[in-house]
Amino acid sequence: MLKKKHINNTTNFANTLLQWNNLDNTRQMPWKGEKDPYKVWLSEIILQQTRVEQGLAYYNAFIKQFSNINKLAAAPDEKVFKLWEGLGYYSRCRNLLATARFISKEKKGVFPNTYDDIVQLKGVGPYTAAAIASFVYNLPYAVVDGNVFRVLARVFGINTAIDTTEGKKYFTRLANELLPKDNAGIYNQAIMDFGAVVCKPAAPLCEICPFNTTCIALKNKVVNQLPVKEKKLQQKKRWFYFLVMQHGNKTFIQQRTSKDIWNQLYQFPMIETSEATDTAVVLKEAEKLSWLTPGGYISNKVSKVVKQQLTHQQVHGSFIYVQFTQKPLKQTDWIAVTQTQLQQYAFPKLIHLLWQQSLPNPSEGGA
Ligand code: SF4
Repeated sequence: MLKKKHINNTTNFANTLLQWNNLDNTRQMPWKGEKDPYKVWLSEIILQQTRVEQGLAYYNAFIKQFSNINKLAAAPDEKVFKLWEGLGYYSRCRNLLATARFISKEKKGVFPNTYDDIVQLKGVGPYTAAAIASFVYNLPYAVVDGNVFRVLARVFGINTAIDTTEGKKYFTRLANELLPKDNAGIYNQAIMDFGAVVCKPAAPLCEICPFNTTCIALKNKVVNQLPVKEKKLQQKKRWFYFLVMQHGNKTFIQQRTSKDIWNQLYQFPMIETSEATDTAVVLKEAEKLSWLTPGGYISNKVSKVVKQQLTHQQVHGSFIYVQFTQKPLKQTDWIAVTQTQLQQYAFPKLIHLLWQQSLPNPSEGGA
C-alpha cells in the first residue's frame, strides 16, 4: 500500500480529474477517442519524444499514405523513412516498420488485444502498451509518462526522484491505485491532457486548477521543484564535418549503417571529431582515407557551423565543399546522385539545417 501521507487525498483524485475532463478539457487531437489500434499505436510511436504540435502533421501524413497496417507493412523502407524525415529518433521508424510487418505477416493484420501481447511488440514499452490497451480496449493499465509523473508528484507532494528504479515503481503503483478500473481509457487521456494544459512544466495554471485547495506542492510552495530528477544528463559533444563532394553534376552521399544516431538515414561522407577542428585537418584526414587525392580536388568554401541539441548529445555540423578536378577513387558505400535525386533520400535534421543556411537547398520540404 501507499504511504499514509499520500493516501489521504487520493480518494477524490480520479473524480476531480474526470470532472475537469468533462467540463473543461477542450484539448483536441485526431487520435483522441480512436478505437482503431493501428491509429492509436501509430500516434503513440510518433509521440514518443515528440511534441503533439510537431507530431500532428506526421500522423496525418502517415494515415493518408497508409490507411491500415498492411499498407504500411508493404511500403518500401525508403518511402517510410522519407515520410518520417525530420521527426528524429529514427529507431522509432525502424521499429514501426518491423512491428507493422510482424503483425501483417504473423498475425494476419490483426493487432494484439491484450497488454501482455502489446508490450511484446518492437518499440512498445510499458507506457505505450498501457496507452494502447486502455485507449482502445479500456483495459485497466495506468499510463505513466512525463505528464503523469509531474501531476502526481505535485498533487501528492512526492519528492522521490522519477528517474530512479524506486521512483518509477512508486509512481507506477500510485498511478495504478488511482486508476478507475472501469474507465481507464478516458482517465488516462484526461491525466495526460491535464498535465499538458494545466499542470504544465513551467507556469502551471494553479489559479484555475481544480486541485488548488489540496495540492501539496502548491501548499508548500514547491511547485517548481517537483518532480525531482536525480541524474543530470551527461552531454556528449560531437563535431560532424560533411564533405559535399562534387564531380561533374553528381554529389556523393552514403547511408549511415552503424549503431548510432540516424541509422539508415543518408549523409554526405563525414569526418567526426570530438572537438572543433580546422578544415585543413579534415581534408588531410579525407586524404588518408583515400576519399581525396592531393592535387585532385579544390576546396575553398565551408558553411557556418550549425548546432543541434539531442537528448544525450550536442552535435555540431558543417559542410566543407569539395570539387573534384580528377576522377575520384571509387568508394564502395558512396552513391553518386544529381541535385534532383537528392530529394528522394531521407537526411537527418542537421543536414537540413545546414542546407537552410547554405543554399541551394535541393530538398525544400525537409524539416
Ligand atoms: S495546483 Fe498547480 S501544481 Fe498543483 S496540480 Fe494544480 S496546476 Fe499542478
